Amino acid sequence: MTLAIHGLVVSRGIAIGRAVLAASSHLDVSHYYITPEQVGSEVRRLVVARDAVVDEITRLQAGMSRDTPRDLVALLDVHVMLLQDDTLAQAIKGWITDRLYNAEWALVSQLDVLVRQFDEMDDPYLRERKADLEQVVERMLRHMRGAPSPVAPPAPAVRAGAPDDGLVLVAHDLSPADMLQFKHSVFSGFITDVGGKTSHTAIVARSMDIPAVVGVRTASELIKPDDCVIIDGNAGVVIVDPSEAMLDEYRYKQKQGEIERQSLARLRHTPAVTLDGHAVELLANIELPGDTSGARRSGAAGVGLFRSEFLFMGRGGRALPDEQEQYEAYSQAVLGMNGLPVTIRTIDVGADKPLDSGGLRELQPQTHLNPALGLRAIRWCLAEPAMFLTQLRAILRAAALGPVNLLIPMLAHAREIRQTLALIEEARQQLKRQGQPCGPVRLGAMIEIPAAALTLPVFLRHFDFLSIGTNDLIQYTLAIDRADETVAELYDPLHPAVLGLVAATIRACAEAGKPVSVCGEMAGDASMTRLLLGLGLRSFSMHPAQILAIKQEILRSDAAKLKPWAEAVLASETPAELLAKGRAGSGV
Ligand code: PEP
Ligand code: MG
Repeated sequence: MTLAIHGLVVSRGIAIGRAVLAASSHLDVSHYYITPEQVGSEVRRLVVARDAVVDEITRLQAGMSRDTPRDLVALLDVHVMLLQDDTLAQAIKGWITDRLYNAEWALVSQLDVLVRQFDEMDDPYLRERKADLEQVVERMLRHMRGAPSPVAPPAPAVRAGAPDDGLVLVAHDLSPADMLQFKHSVFSGFITDVGGKTSHTAIVARSMDIPAVVGVRTASELIKPDDCVIIDGNAGVVIVDPSEAMLDEYRYKQKQGEIERQSLARLRHTPAVTLDGHAVELLANIELPGDTSGARRSGAAGVGLFRSEFLFMGRGGRALPDEQEQYEAYSQAVLGMNGLPVTIRTIDVGADKPLDSGGLRELQPQTHLNPALGLRAIRWCLAEPAMFLTQLRAILRAAALGPVNLLIPMLAHAREIRQTLALIEEARQQLKRQGQPCGPVRLGAMIEIPAAALTLPVFLRHFDFLSIGTNDLIQYTLAIDRADETVAELYDPLHPAVLGLVAATIRACAEAGKPVSVCGEMAGDASMTRLLLGLGLRSFSMHPAQILAIKQEILRSDAAKLKPWAEAVLASETPAELLAKGRAGSGV
């Protein structure tokens, strides 16, 4: 039966394919395909982890005192029984051998199958066994995290039965690290149950430039493996088991989209200048050094945001990258841009971007009830100065190879600014003492906390440029979790308070003669381009895939005419209405 489910638009376009379910509902595990040659070693990892957990529990039982509650002893017996259940072991092995899933993915896939079965049981005692199973799986996963995992290879070239259209990934949730692993995979689209438009998972999906819909709430329950699925990224709709007529219609829309893309490609070498002659800088946001090739292809004038934290994620148990590894990554980005500037943002982990490996647990920012308000980004760096100095040295060394801007996230206090600047100077002195060459950097601060936008003179005194992180600025101004689809309706870039802070930052920079750009998702949203131009913005940083569409808007805009209109939008109680009127052809 055909089914249409609605979610949030993340990345535009149409994808049609067979569903692959990434079954990790709440356990943070890596998902990747292995090669047939790796099946044996992957099954062995599973067996080793299982034996280790049986051993662990047996030792626990042996060490129990006589007064240990009988319930607990019985519970551990159940855990051992589950671990030694041959049917369960075979089923998990099946995901590895038949589907070529990595061991962790196989484990959580089988867990999901069983959890569904448990949920349908009437007997409350049996239903409770679900929790035992989850605990056992979690123990095994913890053991596996300690073992090095192979780096994600691309998905198998052609899976038996896959239609020409390809494969789409369906998940309850995906960590940004998971998304990164899928970056070079064969999936032609993504669907997740949870997540907001500017969650980091959504951002990585957008950077892959493939259709994606998030916040589809029940998708991973309703869609079964191998279901035929259409992802309409333009409308935020997922169609399961479509009719032939629907398939034809969407294949037609897909072709139309391709034609539009090709026509935009002609703008690649056209300078981004408004009708009245204002040059606009279009920069790229990247996650990994290899992304610079896409940035160059899109005609970006440089990298406006290199989210360096992605080097620290998805490491499968390996230690944090040391200075040399980071230096090589930053150098690759700098050299990849061939003389164009690269803005490297210092590590911004925490909140929805956790470090994910067990071996790094002691360095992991502690997760509290409100992680987005916790030890995140620069706060964590200042709490871990040795780690921060390592990163700063690597960036300063890479700056010897080409123009580098150093961007600091999540600053709010003058005290944090002073500490950060002192550490940058210390890193420079350390390199000098070691006789290591390093280059000059321009220093920038992200304006993404309202407190920063309200104390701009402090920032302008200490920094060479500012970059407005609208994703977090919206989150913190409106008290809306950017990753929570249940409040996505209220996550409003056009709220007058948000626009007021963005406009004030642009204005203050113009008055101080300092460059400012927007590097949040607002910069890559073509419906916002005219407004930002009207507010005086002349530098936009976005995923490479969005650059040409934004350039097209710029080429059609007259900045002088947009100014009074943008001021009216800013003063309005309902900016969204004025914006819609402006787009409907009121001359701006
Ligand atoms: C932002 O907050 O707008 C931003 C660019 O940073 P991130 O999305 O990585 O938090
Ligand atoms: Mg941010």
